[in-house]
Amino acid sequence: RSYLNAVTRGAAHYAPGEQVNEPGWIKLNTNESPLPPSPNVFRVMAELVGQGDILRKYSHPLGEPLLSALADYWQLGKENIIVTNGSDEALTLICRATLGAERPAVFPAVTYSLSRTLVTNAGAAYTEIPMVERTGQPYGIDIEALAKCSEAVVFLANPNAITGEYIDAGRLAGIIAASKSLWVVDEAYNDFAGPEATMMKYITQLENLVVTRTFSKTHALAGLRVGYLASGNQELMQGLLAHKDSYNEDALATRLAAAALADKAWHERTIRAVLAGRDFLRAELIALGFECFDSEANYILARAPEKPGAPAVVRRLRDYKILVRHYAGSPFADCIRFSVGAEGENAKLIGSLKEILKSL
Ligand code: PMP
Repeated sequence: RSYLNAVTRGAAHYAPGEQVNEPGWIKLNTNESPLPPSPNVFRVMAELVGQGDILRKYSHPLGEPLLSALADYWQLGKENIIVTNGSDEALTLICRATLGAERPAVFPAVTYSLSRTLVTNAGAAYTEIPMVERTGQPYGIDIEALAKCSEAVVFLANPNAITGEYIDAGRLAGIIAASKSLWVVDEAYNDFAGPEATMMKYITQLENLVVTRTFSKTHALAGLRVGYLASGNQELMQGLLAHKDSYNEDALATRLAAAALADKAWHERTIRAVLAGRDFLRAELIALGFECFDSEANYILARAPEKPGAPAVVRRLRDYKILVRHYAGSPFADCIRFSVGAEGENAKLIGSLKEILKSL
């Protein structure tokens, strides 16, 4: 006998990238920051040691002091932002509050695979819009087809997950303004696409836009689990809050994330280092015979040389203790996704690839 309800019997699991905790491994498989968090984070962490009240009491229900810091940072009202436990939680809240028989989900066929899981687990249906081939990007987003879907919830990662494709924020704003759908723009990797790439500036103009963002990438806090969503639509925000756990973000995370946000110079330094690493990897991978797809994110999807092929290269990289992401059974099973690492890690990756390609 099953005690699961009908939705859960049909539930879909998400397969996260492998996490190794032994030293010596180079992790280029889950798009984490190659640089550590700001020293400001560690300073605040040290100050918190011994402050038992912070742990004894419940955390702030709306994630203060981070909520106020984010409102200041983006020049928005606090009512426009919800602090969440990673941006994954933001996506979960949106699915629960908006999807239903009358409003299905729509997303590009190649995107963050958690979308499928969250939509299915919210008991809703989804439509995948096939990808279109274009120069530099064989799995391009068919934005015109997405724009034509009306009365849906459109999930768009910008830059897109796996491929790194970025759609211009101004163009997207025009499309959203003309659309009858709710648009969820997932900006997990948006900082890597430049300072003008975010949709946050349109929050108060477009009532059918929700933006989700994270501290996991450019703030180097993936393990802390901090994200947020932003919208100017107050009815929507109230509905999202109804689904939120009372104390969804913990007292330490809200303080440490606020400390990271305050250190703008460190944030910019992290982005600059990743962009330099991305340029280096791209040039070196091309020289080794990989076909690199255009990416504005902190990873590069690249088609491996036909011989020896992606699975063999991925297997051999493990012998060098280098983890990368391979999507077996997918349309891009002939590709490898490389997260941009620190300077030494990128160099080690390229050196290892040279040896592997010579030996196979
Ligand atoms: N969106 C995309 C496209 C991602 O790749 C990730 C990271 N796996 C997330 C959102 C979630 O990030 P987090 O929950 O760590 O904020």
